[in-house]
Amino acid sequence: MLYDVAVVGSGFSAIAVTINLLRLLPASASIAVVGDDPGFGRGTAYRTEFYVHRLNVPAGRMSLFPEKPDDFVEWLGEHMRQVSADGFASRGDYGLYLRDRLASLLRDHERRPKVDFVKAKATDCVHCSEAGLVFHLDNGAELRARSVVLCLGIGNADLPLAAGKIDAGVEGSIVRNPWRLRWLSKVDPSDTVCILGSGLTMIDQVLALRVHGHRGRFRVLSRRGLLPHPHPPADRRAPAVEPELGSSREISALLAGFRKQVRNGTDWRGLMDGLRPVTQKLWQELTKEQRSRFLRHGLAWWNVHRHRIAPEIASRFEALRRDGIVTVHAGFLEMIQEGPRGAVVAYRERQSHRPRSFHTDWIVNCTGMERAGVAHSPLLCEMQRQGLISPDELGLGLSVDKDSRVLDLKKQPQPGLYAVGALTAGQFWEITAVPDIRVQAQDVASAVAATLRA
Ligand SMILES: Cc1cc2nc3c(=O)[nH]c(=O)nc-3n(C[C@H](O)[C@H](O)[C@H](O)COP(=O)(O)OP(=O)(O)OC[C@H]3O[C@@H](n4cnc5c(N)ncnc54)[C@H](O)[C@@H]3O)c2cc1C
Repeated sequence: MLYDVAVVGSGFSAIAVTINLLRLLPASASIAVVGDDPGFGRGTAYRTEFYVHRLNVPAGRMSLFPEKPDDFVEWLGEHMRQVSADGFASRGDYGLYLRDRLASLLRDHERRPKVDFVKAKATDCVHCSEAGLVFHLDNGAELRARSVVLCLGIGNADLPLAAGKIDAGVEGSIVRNPWRLRWLSKVDPSDTVCILGSGLTMIDQVLALRVHGHRGRFRVLSRRGLLPHPHPPADRRAPAVEPELGSSREISALLAGFRKQVRNGTDWRGLMDGLRPVTQKLWQELTKEQRSRFLRHGLAWWNVHRHRIAPEIASRFEALRRDGIVTVHAGFLEMIQEGPRGAVVAYRERQSHRPRSFHTDWIVNCTGMERAGVAHSPLLCEMQRQGLISPDELGLGLSVDKDSRVLDLKKQPQPGLYAVGALTAGQFWEITAVPDIRVQAQDVASAVAATLRA
């Protein structure tokens, strides 16, 4: 069968695009959604069942629909969750909200387009002019579609250590993908757990283990030892402040301007929130050199200031640090060796450069999301080989234009081929969280609908 649209992926981007297509396309249209995640639409972020896994964006900004900002807050109220617009709901609840909104559109059989959910992974794609694009799936089937929206996410980062630096005997103690939560039940309550990475994923895993009854120690190791900042409680939250950008588009000049604004009394959180609506435009105004400077020198600082955690989660985590249950080390991981009991993590301390080491029973990779261009995805590698796509110049994901149309190897837009979500960070940068993806999903669905009408 030839579908009008295929949505490839099964996380938030895919559900947001599908929901918008269901609202915009006529009943005569057909949509295929190809994904391998059993909890379709929830992806890694929203399929968790731990209540301590909270959203890091207030509920009032998490609606699926930019034009209906209270939609998620209303859903929370209808489901008797005590979370206000400036509170932080659980991510599991957010996953249920997404599922509910999709289900209510699917119930309207008479007026909606036909949708087939295909539980498979797309492995290869070829372009074929009369039928748009043809995908090969890992279940052996073939799928044809006039337009395609790639919503593949960016995958987990690999351990920041070459294979030769890890003793074979410790492989069983290494958790490479912490989002496969089965590992939690293998940990003994008194085990020491080393977490590599000190960002949001680390905090999620520490709190999940505590809820699971773990009472041992955590050793957190990251290059700078920086922890995400908390959102202040709602009554002490500063309003967003417009950044004074000046005319220079040098990263150092922009940063100096922001520092000056903060010195003159602007709350830095208000400034970060004020930057958010202009970040995409600002990013597009930077040269390639300035963007890479930002990635080299500013990324770690950006992450901890920009992606802040709910105040309740921050106080739980702080209490664990105060009680000596969590220790944070700043240094460069050098080796993971087999020790007399468990593993030995060897690292070089930041600043002093002294070699250090500690014993641990588990090593959990929480170094975050992969920013490795197309390499993480066999589908994208294959599409690149055929010249259908090209990596963006900084290797963050795919080359796309400002309308999210995927560019081929000659940097020409591929007819009917779009990408949504963090894969498009090279063009937009600020495109990993719901408030930005929901707008992009709506724009792309509108463009697909316009093409079909034409
Ligand atoms: C732990 C965590 C917490 C977060 N919390 C928040 C938050 O509170 N607020 C917020 O706004 N944002 C948050 N985010 C950001 C989050 O990344 C986005 O909100 C959103 O989940 C991204 O969805 P996505 O669909 O683009 O990617 P993903 O969720 O990664 O989904 C991609 C999907 O595509 C599938 N796929 C990949 N390749 C193929 C293929 N070849 N064929 C078929 N399917 C394929 C994958 O299996 C996966 O299911 C969080 C992210 C994480 C990881």
